[in-house]
Amino acid sequence: MERLRLLSVASEIFPVVKTGGLADVVGALPHALARENVDVSTLIPGYPAVLNAVSGAQAVLEVDDLFGGPARVLAASAAGLKLFVIEAPHLYDRVGGPYVDHDGNDWPDNAFRFAALAQIGARIGLGAIAGVQPDILHVHDWQTGLVPAYLHYSGRNGPATVMTIHNLAFPGRFAPELLTALGLPPAAYAIEGVEYFGDISFLKAGLQFADRITTVSPTYAVEIATPENGMGFDGLLRARGDRFSGILNGIDSAVWDPAHDPLIAAPYNAERPAQRPRNTAALRRRFGLDEDGAVLLVGIVSRLSWQKGLDLLLDALPGLIARGIQFTVLGAGDTPLEAGFTAAVAAFPGRIGVYIGYDEGVAHLVQAGADAILVPSRFEPCGLTQLCALRYGAIPIVSRVGGLADTVIDANEMALAAGVATGVVFAPPTSQALESALVRTAALFARASTWQTMQRNAMRTDVSWDRSGRQYAQLYREMIGAARSTSGFSPVKS
Ligand code: ADP
Repeated sequence: MERLRLLSVASEIFPVVKTGGLADVVGALPHALARENVDVSTLIPGYPAVLNAVSGAQAVLEVDDLFGGPARVLAASAAGLKLFVIEAPHLYDRVGGPYVDHDGNDWPDNAFRFAALAQIGARIGLGAIAGVQPDILHVHDWQTGLVPAYLHYSGRNGPATVMTIHNLAFPGRFAPELLTALGLPPAAYAIEGVEYFGDISFLKAGLQFADRITTVSPTYAVEIATPENGMGFDGLLRARGDRFSGILNGIDSAVWDPAHDPLIAAPYNAERPAQRPRNTAALRRRFGLDEDGAVLLVGIVSRLSWQKGLDLLLDALPGLIARGIQFTVLGAGDTPLEAGFTAAVAAFPGRIGVYIGYDEGVAHLVQAGADAILVPSRFEPCGLTQLCALRYGAIPIVSRVGGLADTVIDANEMALAAGVATGVVFAPPTSQALESALVRTAALFARASTWQTMQRNAMRTDVSWDRSGRQYAQLYREMIGAARSTSGFSPVKS
């Protein structure tokens, strides 16, 4: 199998800098692809956290003026990842998040901060760094959407490009007056360019000019090509339909391994599940819940935002608690949701426990201890929480959208009879449907042997990166094959 060189371009990468699932994917892909003989380097902005985390940094490219100041590209490594880091203090050396300041407001110069990332990505693709010539550029979400556009408008032959949509809800939308300052030609401001409802969209740029488009689950790929869910990109996605597909994410099965997890109370796995209840007891203690192993304990690990549908749970909560179901909620986000869950603890002490914040250790304990994990998203490109839940034998209860629909097998009569159910799936995402799903789950929980079979099925589901890594590698190899056959490399003579 021929070795491929891939440059991945992204705005975050686990474990160096993370705000969401995007970082997990970008951080996991290099390891999964190494097994497929694809050698990955990742280009990321040099936020302070990144510059502090890397080692062996060496300057490999100097740029006099990168959107208002000098910059250098450093080749470096961190946590076993090969990185190119853009050191550009005027763009990235500031206290705050990758996208927002301390008050949660977007950085006012985000257009230039991420145009810079894309510009450097395109230059590396065109051979700006001696000895570095990627075969493929893989770019992620709006922050990198200009990479294929810069390559296109350069008029030069660059490497093949693939763009992955991790969340269509972020178009990377900016004022049209920025066009020239961003280094795009006037012709780019057109329907078949980067124009988006009178503005510029970086995501649109990527979707327009990337050779291939992927998103993170097959069902989300279908959903976002419809007017209801396409956020104005659906027409373009339909037009590019033969170049657009869904590849499911995996999770890091070493970090998420209940047999060797230092963050939980007792190790277990599908073959030796007997210790799992010790984690359930530890979780009840950690969240101040009444000790009662006979009732269903439902865990939540989530950003608290409209997308995640947890307002639906708040609506249904009194009825569910009246039925004896207990809850632990780990999450942070929108103030009304945080306040709603905090108030619920006061209203139902011992029945719901809440931890407002982000905490990896608590997340592992919830996965290991909860009987079930609820993910009632209104939309979900892939979702990682339910994949962790499968691996930990916490039965996922999910709405039937996006990647949730693709990864959980509902415990309907046929699936139970065939012995293949792994969770509970409900639709539509309403509080009534959520309530029925939880009542149905509680009934399954009361049937011990059915529940144990579901837990075993869940834990045996392959949620690793191996399958996805193979699919990405196959896509890259197809793209290289296609590029060669159109540029004269083909062995077939005309
Ligand atoms: P998204 O990227 O939309 O937030 P995903 O399910 O794709 O959702 O990925 C989110 C990841 O972050 C999951 O692994 C989830 O368990 C984790 N997570 C979310 N909220 C928290 C939290 N408050 N504490 C710890 N981990 C969290």
